[in-house]
Amino acid sequence: MTEQKRKLEKLAGVKGMNDVLPQDAGLWDFFESTVKSMLRAYGYQNIRTPIVEHTQLFTRGIGEVTDIVEKEMYSFVDSLNGEHLTLRPESTAAVVRSSIEHNLLYDGPKRLWYIGPMFRHERPQRGRYRQFHQVGVEALGFAGPDTDAEIILMCQRLWDDLGLTGIRLEINSLGLAEERAAHRVELIAYLEKHVDALDEDAKRRLYTNPLRVLDTKNPALQEIAQNAPKLIDFLGDASRAHFEGLQRLLKANNIPFKINPRLVRGLDYYNLTVFEWVTDKLGAQGTVAAGGRYDPLIEQLGGKPTAACGWAMGVERILELLKEESLVPQEEGCDVYVVHQGERAAEQAFIIAERLRDTGLDVVLHCSADGASASFKSQMKRADASGAAFAVILGEDEVAGGTVGVKPLREAAAGGEKSEQQTVPVENLTEFLINAMVATAEDGDD
Ligand code: ATP
Ligand code: MG
Repeated sequence: MTEQKRKLEKLAGVKGMNDVLPQDAGLWDFFESTVKSMLRAYGYQNIRTPIVEHTQLFTRGIGEVTDIVEKEMYSFVDSLNGEHLTLRPESTAAVVRSSIEHNLLYDGPKRLWYIGPMFRHERPQRGRYRQFHQVGVEALGFAGPDTDAEIILMCQRLWDDLGLTGIRLEINSLGLAEERAAHRVELIAYLEKHVDALDEDAKRRLYTNPLRVLDTKNPALQEIAQNAPKLIDFLGDASRAHFEGLQRLLKANNIPFKINPRLVRGLDYYNLTVFEWVTDKLGAQGTVAAGGRYDPLIEQLGGKPTAACGWAMGVERILELLKEESLVPQEEGCDVYVVHQGERAAEQAFIIAERLRDTGLDVVLHCSADGASASFKSQMKRADASGAAFAVILGEDEVAGGTVGVKPLREAAAGGEKSEQQTVPVENLTEFLINAMVATAEDGDD
C-alpha cells in the first residue's frame, strides 16, 4: 500500500545532456539540410560508425596525454563480456578504424563526412555539454595543401549558406615529427625556467606533452605561453612549402586568415596544417570548428601509411550563433487541418485526410484529448494555432451533401482581408486546394 501511495518522482535527464525539443527541430533541420547540400557540392560521402568503440581506439588514436583521454571519456566495462568500451568523444579515430577495417581506400582516396552525438565528461556550461553533436569531414588519402584549402573553404561556404558572419579563421603548421622534436627540446628548457609559475596540468605535461602547455586556457599562463619558442620557427623546407601552398590558395580564394603560432590543437594526431574557426559572439566557447592534417594516424591505427586531413564542427555552438543572429528559419505549418463534428463526419474526415496525404499534402486531423467531440469553435482555434494553410471542415450537412467547407487560414492570421469559407464538392477538394496553394505562392512572389 505504502508503495502505491508513494508519490512518483519526476525523472530528470542526465546533467550536460540535452533534449532537442520540438521548438528547435526546425533549426536543426535547417542546419542539417544546409550542411548536407554543402557536403554534396564537394563530393563527400556519408559514413556512420557506432557510438560505442573499444576504449583502446581512443587511447591509441587520440593520445594518452590529452584532455579527452585523461579526463573526459565515458568508459565502462561491458558487464556481460568484460570488454573495455567508451562512448565516442569524437569521430576521426572511428572513421579511420572503419576505413582500415573495410579497406575503403582500396580504390583510391575517399572524402567522407559524418554527423552525430559525441560524449565528453566536461563541466557543462554554455556551448560545452557532455553530449554534444559534431558534423565532420575526413579526406583520406590526399597529401597536398589543396585538400587542406578545400576543407577550409567548405566551412566558409557553410557560413555563407547559413548566413553567418564574423567567424574568423586561424591557421598554424605543426610541421613534421622531427621538427616538433627539435622544438620540444627548446620548449622544455623554456618551461623549466618558468616551472614555479606553471599550474598542475602544465607541470604534468612538461615532459609528456609540452606542446599542450601552449594551448592552456589558464589566464595566468597566457604570458608564458605567448613568449614560448614557436614551433613555426622550426619548420623545414617541405613543411614550409606545404604551409605556403595552403596560404596561397586561401588568398586566391579571398579567405582572410590569421597565423596563430600558439594554435596546437588538443589532439595528438595532428601534423602540418591545423586550423580553427572562431567567433567572439559565444563568450568563452568561441571555437565553432577545428581541424587539420593527421598524416600519422592511419598507420598508427594499423593501416598503410596514408595522408589525411579533416575538421569537426560543434553543432550546438553553430545553432547558438544562428539564434544569436536571429537567423532561425520561420517554421512552416502543415497544409491542411481537418475539423469535424458528428460520428459520420469523423469517419469521413479520417478518409479525406488519408486521400489528401496520398496527393502529397501535409495534413493534421483534429483528434480530441478525451475522445469526445469538441465544438467547431475550439477545433478552429487549434487549426489556426497549427499554422495550417487551410482548414477543411466537415459537419453532418457537408457529409449529407458530399461536400466539405474550405477556409484559408494564413491570410486571416497575417491580418489580411478576411477569407471566406467556401463549399467544395469532395471530389474536387484536392484540385481546389492545390490551385489555391499555387495562387497564394504566386501572390507571395509579387
Ligand atoms: P575546446 O578547446 O573548446 O574544449 P576541443 O579542442 O576539445 O575544444 P575538438 O575536439 O577539436 O574540440 O572538437 C571540435 C569542435 O567540437 C569544437 O571546436 C567545438 O565546436 C565542439 N565541441 C568540442 N567539445 C564540445 C563540448 N563539450 N560541447 C559542445 N561542443 C563541443
Ligand atoms: Mg575540449
